[in-house]
Amino acid sequence: MTATDAAARTFESQDPRTGEVVGTHPVHDAAAVQAAVDRATDAAAWWAGLGFDGRLPKLAAWRSLLAKRIDDLAGVIVTETGKPLDDARLELILAVDHLDWAARNAKRVLGKRTVRPGLLGANQAATVSYPPVGVVGVIGPWNYPVFTPMGSIAYALAAGNTVVFKPSELTPGVGRALADTLAEVLPDAPLLQVVTGFGGTGAALCRARGVGKIAFTGSTATGKRVMAACAENLVPVLIECGGKDAMIVDTDADLVAAADAAVWGGMSNAGQTCVGVERIYVVDEVADAFTTEVAKRAGALRAGDSFGPMTLPAQTAIVERHVRDAIAAGGTALVGGPDSVRDRFVDPVVVADVPEDSVAVTEETFGPLLVVNRVPDVDEAVRRANGTAYGLGASVFAKARGEEIADRLRCGMVAVNGVISFAGIPALPFGGVGDSGFGRIHGDDGLREFARPRAVARQRFALPVPLTSFRRPASAMKGLVRMTRLRLGR
Ligand code: NDP
Repeated sequence: MTATDAAARTFESQDPRTGEVVGTHPVHDAAAVQAAVDRATDAAAWWAGLGFDGRLPKLAAWRSLLAKRIDDLAGVIVTETGKPLDDARLELILAVDHLDWAARNAKRVLGKRTVRPGLLGANQAATVSYPPVGVVGVIGPWNYPVFTPMGSIAYALAAGNTVVFKPSELTPGVGRALADTLAEVLPDAPLLQVVTGFGGTGAALCRARGVGKIAFTGSTATGKRVMAACAENLVPVLIECGGKDAMIVDTDADLVAAADAAVWGGMSNAGQTCVGVERIYVVDEVADAFTTEVAKRAGALRAGDSFGPMTLPAQTAIVERHVRDAIAAGGTALVGGPDSVRDRFVDPVVVADVPEDSVAVTEETFGPLLVVNRVPDVDEAVRRANGTAYGLGASVFAKARGEEIADRLRCGMVAVNGVISFAGIPALPFGGVGDSGFGRIHGDDGLREFARPRAVARQRFALPVPLTSFRRPASAMKGLVRMTRLRLGR
């Protein structure tokens, strides 16, 4: 990205591998964002009116086109993020799978249902429906520029909303290409519009009249700004922020599988994964064997070959600061070190026995750095894993106690004997706690996130003695109190 002047009318996106300019995009101002939201509001009435059965074939047609275009879109992702083509393909495959699931399950999750009216409401028929919120504003990051926003876009559309999407300033071309595929299937309906620009464009989306909800994915600091802007008009928010995900390795773990998962989880996408592995707590008994295996695998990787560059130039300095601090604080570099930071490309770094107060342990690194710390037992591993303000994902490698350990972790998602596996299962909700945010994308919860529950109580017949009327006889209340004590006062 160049032309950082916020007043600029256009800006350029670059290939982070070479610095080559690959696209020019408008900087949408508040008026342009409002116009997009107004168009989305008009389209929202039509889209909601189609109902689940009317929307399903249209979303299926989009899914099918996306599946056919995987290679084309993957090419755009590669160009703006620098990640390897197969990683971009995997991101798209997951996104298409989520779109399919959201479209097929929306009616089951959000369709009108009856609920029991209870004893006091015995004369009523009670139903819950889940109408859409209207227009959803989606603000996305650059690291998984299709998969991450699609966790909101697909679920919001399936729930009957229209979407105005603000992609990261680093990946505007990806956002545009994604929206173009839906426009190709439904040319007359602006179901998914893209507004491009810098933070100001995102802020304008938060403040636009008619936005029913903002789904934000990005850093915790920006998430707080988004929430503050949305608070002005009481616009609800879904906040998906960063993490400092831990992996716990127990004594009975398959150490080869655990090391393989740790290296993929820590190094793939150059470590620029919100649910990537950043800290590993391995029980002492198996620490040497595990660490040797991790070092062997990580040492065989090279940036620019195994994974891409740092997409955000400023991130390189953060990674270098964490590497230096980990070593200065007393950690032992097993793979790489400060010299692994080569401008935009950062080779794998593995540092063992890093004090827990080092920034390499406390802050999100978002780069190919793995901290491997040995602990006396699983209890200590759990205590340290939970000792962070973040709480996004985690992974556990253990044979006997995998799920038991998972249940003790303070976070939104856990992979047992795997890594990041939860993100590929559309039925599982995705999101965090604490500084990692709140609200959920994916799964039933992800569909409900983009709907407003509406309760209806329909009287089927009048009660012989009215309770909510000024004509209520005092004797009726006495009887009701007696009955309540009998029923609930035990
Ligand atoms: P940022 O927080 O920098 O930006 C996120 C988005 O918000 C961008 O589109 C950005 O636009 C926009 N934005 C910036 N300022 C404002 C503002 N004042 N009001 C509204 N929108 C604004 O995050 P990154 O793009 O750097 O993404 C990396 C972060 O995302 C990491 O912390 C990572 O962990 C997290 N992440 C979380 C995921 C999750 O699901 N929990 C998934 C993926 C990433 P612009 O780019 O133009 O500044």
